[in-house]
Amino acid sequence: MAGSLFTDASKRLEKALKYVAISDDAGERLKYPKTSLSVSIPVRMDDGSLKIFPGYRVRYDDTRGPGKGGVRYHPNVTMDEVQSLAFWMTFKCALLNLPFGGAKGGITLNPKELSRAELERLSRGYIEAIADFIGPDVDILAPDVYTNEMMMGWMMDQYSIIRRKISPAVVTGKPVTMGGSQGRNTATGTGAFFIMQAMLPKFDRYPENTTVAVQGFGNAGMVVAECLYQEGYKVVAISDSQGGIYNEQGVDIPAAIDYKQHNRSLAGMYCDQTLCDLGDNQQLSNAELLALDVDVLIPAALENQLTADNADQVKARYIFEVANGPTTSGADDILVSKGIYVFPDILVNAGGVTVSYFEWVQNRSGLYWSAKEVNDRLKEKMVEEAEQVWHIAQDLEVSVRTAAYIHALNRLSEAMDAKGTRDYYQDT
Ligand code: NAD
Repeated sequence: MAGSLFTDASKRLEKALKYVAISDDAGERLKYPKTSLSVSIPVRMDDGSLKIFPGYRVRYDDTRGPGKGGVRYHPNVTMDEVQSLAFWMTFKCALLNLPFGGAKGGITLNPKELSRAELERLSRGYIEAIADFIGPDVDILAPDVYTNEMMMGWMMDQYSIIRRKISPAVVTGKPVTMGGSQGRNTATGTGAFFIMQAMLPKFDRYPENTTVAVQGFGNAGMVVAECLYQEGYKVVAISDSQGGIYNEQGVDIPAAIDYKQHNRSLAGMYCDQTLCDLGDNQQLSNAELLALDVDVLIPAALENQLTADNADQVKARYIFEVANGPTTSGADDILVSKGIYVFPDILVNAGGVTVSYFEWVQNRSGLYWSAKEVNDRLKEKMVEEAEQVWHIAQDLEVSVRTAAYIHALNRLSEAMDAKGTRDYYQDT
C-alpha cells in the first residue's frame, strides 16, 4: 500500500504519537487511508486519437467531515503521492479546526502538452470517472499543482450535469462568477504571509532586517513573495522549474510577476518563460537558492526539495513550507539539529483550504462575503492556530512540526473516540 513518500509522511505521525495520549484505535486508524480509487480516463485528442490517462482520488479520513483536497495534474503523480497528500490534508483540516477530513486527487500527465480543449475533456472525464466517489457532503475537490480555477469550473459543471442539479459546493477554487470565493486564488500565499507576520517577530525578525528566498514562483509562491515585498521584506531570490534569479538589493517582485504573467503559452494556461530571462539579476540554480545565506527560506514548489543530501547546506534560520512535503523526514532531523525553525506545510499553506472552507460555506448558504471579510476571517484563523502550535512547541520542547501534528492529532482522536473506544466497550 505504502511507497516511500507515504512512509516518510507517516514518520511525522509516529513522532507526534509519543506526545499525545490517544486511544490505540485512533492511532491505528490514522496509519491507513480509508479509501483509494484508481481510474483510467479516456480522452479524445485533437488529432482524433484516443489516449488513456491514469487518475486517482484518495479519501484518507472523514471522521471530522467530508473529504477535502485538491487535484494535481503532473507527470509524477502516483497513488503513493496522492495518498501522502491526502494524509497531509487530514492533519491540515484538523489543525485549522475545519469540519473536513482529508482527501486528494491527481492525474498522471504533462498538462503543458495538451491543448485547452483536451484539458477540458480530461477534466470532465476525470469527474465522470469519480462522480460516485465525491459530492458536497462526501468529498470536495480544489485546485493544486497545474490545475486552476477554470478547470475547477469545468469539474463543477460536469458534476452538476451528472447529478442534474447545480452543485457548486462539490468543488472549491471555482471562478467567482460560478460561485467561487473572493480571495481564494491568493489564499495560500496570503495565509502563509499572516503566519510569517505572527511568528517572525518572536525572533526579533522584522521587514527591515530580514532577507527571504522563495523557491517556486507559481500561484502560492508569487503571492507570498508579493505580500512580503509590499510589507518591506527584502526578497533576494526567486525561482521556477528552470532556475532562479538573485539580487542582493532585492528582486523587483511586481516586475517578476508581470513578466511571468505576460509570457504565457497555451492560451493563458501555463507559463513557458522562465524567470532566468528576467534582466538585471544574477542567475542561480534551484540547488544554489536552497543554500543561500538568507534569514528565511520558503520552499513553494514541490515535495522532497530539502533532503538528507542537501539539508546540511541550508543557511536560513527559518523555513516556512508553502509547498506540501518539501522537507523529507531525514532532512528534518538535520535542520532541527542545526537549530533551524521549520514552520510546517500543514500550518503554513493551510490558507488555501481555509478559504476553500469559506467558499463551501458560502455555496451552501447562498450568502457571499466581501474580499475584506474573507481576508479578516482568514487572518484570525491562521494566527489563532499558529499561536496554539507555537505554545505546544514551547511547552513540550518539540519542533514546530511535531507541535502541529500533536495539535491536529488531539482533535482527530477526540472525534474518533467520540464513536466509542476499546475502554468504553470493555466497561459495559
Ligand atoms: P503552481 O503550479 O502554480 O507553481 C509551482 C511553481 O513551482 C512553478 O513556478 C514551477 O515552475 C515551480 N517549480 C516546479 N518545479 C520546481 C523546482 N524543482 N524548483 C523550483 N521551482 C519549481 O503550483 P502552486 O499552486 O503554487 O503549488 C505549489 C506548492 O504549494 C505545491 O506543493 C502545492 O501542493 C502547494 N499548495 C498550493 C496551494 C494552492 O492553493 N495553490 C495550497 C496548498 C498547498
